[in-house]
Amino acid sequence: MSSLPVVRVALPTPLRRLFDYRAGPAADSPIMAGTRVRVPFGQRRLIGVAMETAASSELPDERLKPVLETLDPQPIFDPATLALLGWAADYYHHPVGEVLAAALPKALRLGAAIDAAEERWIISPAGLEAYTSGEPRRAPRQRQLLAALASGGLTAAELDEKLGSWRDAARALIGRGWLSVVVLPPAAGEARAPALLAVSRGPEPNEEQRVAIDRVCESLGVFAGFVLHGVTGSGKTEVYLQVVERALRLGRSALVLVPEIGLTPQLVNRFRSRFAAPMAVLHSALTDHERLLAWRDAFSGRARVVLGTRSAVFAPVPDLGVIVVDEEHDPSFKQHEGGFRYSARDLAVVRAQRGGVPVVLGSATPAFETLQNVTTGRYERLVLTRRAAEAAPPRLSLIDLRSSAVRAGISTPAVQAIERHLANGGQVLVFLNRRGYAPTLLCTACGWLAPCRDCDARLTVHLAAARLRCHHCGADTALPERCPQCGFAVKAVGQGTERIEETLAALFPGTPCIRLDRDVVRRRGDMEEAMRRMASGEARILVGTQMVTKGHDFPNVTLVVVLNADQGFFSSDFRAPERLAQTIVQVAGRAGRGEKAGEVLIQTEFPDHPLLRSLLAEGYDGFARVALAERSQASWPPFSRLAAVRDSAKTAEAALAFLTEARKAAEDLRAARGGSAPGSRTESRAVRLLGPAPAAMAKRAGRYHAQLLVESADRAALHRFLDAWLPALEALPSVRRVRWALDVDPSEIF
Ligand code: ADP
Ligand code: ZN
Ligand code: ZN
Repeated sequence: MSSLPVVRVALPTPLRRLFDYRAGPAADSPIMAGTRVRVPFGQRRLIGVAMETAASSELPDERLKPVLETLDPQPIFDPATLALLGWAADYYHHPVGEVLAAALPKALRLGAAIDAAEERWIISPAGLEAYTSGEPRRAPRQRQLLAALASGGLTAAELDEKLGSWRDAARALIGRGWLSVVVLPPAAGEARAPALLAVSRGPEPNEEQRVAIDRVCESLGVFAGFVLHGVTGSGKTEVYLQVVERALRLGRSALVLVPEIGLTPQLVNRFRSRFAAPMAVLHSALTDHERLLAWRDAFSGRARVVLGTRSAVFAPVPDLGVIVVDEEHDPSFKQHEGGFRYSARDLAVVRAQRGGVPVVLGSATPAFETLQNVTTGRYERLVLTRRAAEAAPPRLSLIDLRSSAVRAGISTPAVQAIERHLANGGQVLVFLNRRGYAPTLLCTACGWLAPCRDCDARLTVHLAAARLRCHHCGADTALPERCPQCGFAVKAVGQGTERIEETLAALFPGTPCIRLDRDVVRRRGDMEEAMRRMASGEARILVGTQMVTKGHDFPNVTLVVVLNADQGFFSSDFRAPERLAQTIVQVAGRAGRGEKAGEVLIQTEFPDHPLLRSLLAEGYDGFARVALAERSQASWPPFSRLAAVRDSAKTAEAALAFLTEARKAAEDLRAARGGSAPGSRTESRAVRLLGPAPAAMAKRAGRYHAQLLVESADRAALHRFLDAWLPALEALPSVRRVRWALDVDPSEIF
């Protein structure tokens, strides 16, 4: 390869372009696309990624600065990943340098070496065989060491930490050929761990699981999109495990994405105990160093299963064989803050497509976009209707809050049902999507309602902590005893989980009750402790928020009470009913997972609401049919494509002014392109602008928020429009007075 003199570098700056540099004296060998380079940038030095080389630059020679240093001996992005990231930068209209930066662990962004050679102790195939058959029987140290290595190689430092003294045992095991030391240059594909595959076998799949596994496995080696639709407990994870196992047996690796809250130690253990192949686990709670190590394990191909949350969609996975996205409907797959707002689920599908591998999207409540892709034939639906471990699905019914006596948020019929289930030895789950003691603090004399100073919101009462907190900006002040306005006594109004826990304790004295929400679950392990107390039967009632709906087994819960199902009907967000139905179905799925049939009670003031009716009568599918018809009428996604420009400023006027100018710029653009005047037929087929309008909660954390929506039935037209429009937005004078961002396929509409 001849070395071209100019390198085009993606730098972490908001500028939507690559920057040209001279390959320079530092590069004695050609700089390959995908390697990190350090370059001068204004007064600073930045680390960027070489994207391509060129024979010449548009810059005059004397202005072309040299690359100062090449950080990687070989690319850290392979061409496929680089292309995927380039695609993502185009699709989300985000500067490619920032997209690349988002795909790298912080340590690598800051220049950490990728190739620091590393000695690892690994078990040999003979050693693994000996270990699984219980040897060596009389050398506990050696056995401990084998146990530590059975799920993947470890460094000396890791062994020191795990085992204390282990070197004598290692020497003995090396003598028997059961252990070896490898030096791992984390080059892709090299030094792969031997194919230590299944250590334990899964259960025999039932008929539906068998069909699902076979369909996906028939596609190993080509792109195919599958929706694995089954309620919680129907055996989806078992399908993932067996599909992944098949991919591993073919010498391929697997990428498994889960929502943040779904990445529990139970899930990780389930994968770990199934495969001896090393795993890399990537999630947001890792330290920078842990993240680097996990990323390296993925990069080198040492890890054969990469399991992680949202940003793991960018993890390097050499020899990728299959991608799984669990709980694909979960909103946490969409990054909706910061600059680069991407959907990990959607990128997973693109990655599978480009990589020629199957992708499995699993959910009890698939997103409407996903259902629509099934309808149009883009994905194949695989259904698990039976719960693997048990028989009857739970019975859902409504409690009309208008005609029932209600005490502190809990209706009499609900109280009676709780009593009955407790008497029959069952456990009860009470769901309320609001933490704290009460959502408002009211002065009964003057009507003062404790407001957040920085948001259009009330402060939430946290009684045990004696604090008033804002759930939007984090403001936190002492709970006043008297009204600051008139000095009269104040009163907490409404219910949060903390108050429901108190009410239940009063209604069922002597019945142990635990609460699960972000206020009580602060550390890793808190959740596990709560789970343990429910599993052991030590606790009989569980009160919680959304946190209880994800992926945990409560086999003895026979009753689920949903205290308030109504928020979903009155939101400005067209997705609110979909989310509400998903939540109800997910919560309901907690009931009756053991042998006992479950009962689900939903308290509502709108028992005749057609959406709620269809959910009860026909389940999620029926609900989706009705709700999708409404979306189609209003031409919301998935029947159109949407992008949102959001901004915030110190005043409401400034926030709206920028978006008003942005809208004007869009109209000028269209006029300049000719013909497609607003309202004309060409325009109606192209893009529609909605807004600007203040956000539903306009003031948040002291800033005023607004949004402008861009909608089109034609995806290509929308993206062409954005390509032309964004540079115009960036050039608007008012852009300096706001913070703004573009959100393509926004998951929330304010
Ligand atoms: P999901 O991921 O849909 O919630 P899981 O795969 O976790 O379902 O299955 C629920 C429970 O049933 C788990 O304890 C699992 O081990 C068990 N299970 C799954 N498939 C089978 C099967 N074919 N035979 C026996 N048990 C199974
Ligand atoms: Zn008052
Ligand atoms: Zn606030």
